[in-house]
Amino acid sequence: MNKTGKIEVICGCMFSGKTEELIRRIRRAQIAKMSVIVFKPKVDSRYSITQIVSHNKIKIDSQCITSSNDILNYSTEYDVFGIDEAQFFDKNIINICKKLANIGKRVIIAGLDKDYKSEPFGFMPQLMCEADYLVKLRAICVKCGNSASYTKRTTKEIDQVVIGELDKYQALCRNCYNNL
Ligand code: ZN
Repeated sequence: MNKTGKIEVICGCMFSGKTEELIRRIRRAQIAKMSVIVFKPKVDSRYSITQIVSHNKIKIDSQCITSSNDILNYSTEYDVFGIDEAQFFDKNIINICKKLANIGKRVIIAGLDKDYKSEPFGFMPQLMCEADYLVKLRAICVKCGNSASYTKRTTKEIDQVVIGELDKYQALCRNCYNNL
């Protein structure tokens, strides 16, 4: 049986542990002696530009890139490709992930499925559609403690992309989000 490539998508709202899960999978691939590389889009420079960092401060080295095309410059050298904050990448990210999987690579994508207005974010819907494996993680609602799938922005900014953490966003369950 030939080794086959695959696309794994880890999605969910903010504070649901997507980056932590991405890092966990990348670490396991490293233990298995696979060569790994992780990318993140330049828009997101919180904490560090050469590492991805989960909310609980676990870190892993990453390449900060401006265009999804930059990923292809590395396609022959690595076995496993991690992509964090995938909702911020251009449309080309879909074809790049497919190309990598088609040549036998493992692609692990983490990203927000929805924005603060609960609309689909970037090209995450298409990436979820292309996934061989898909998980949707949930956070904990800060109001009531139920599992949360919604991200609420706590500031008045209206752009889709506003970089922030607990200072600007909260995870809420369906009831608490709808009762706003
Ligand atoms: Zn709630």
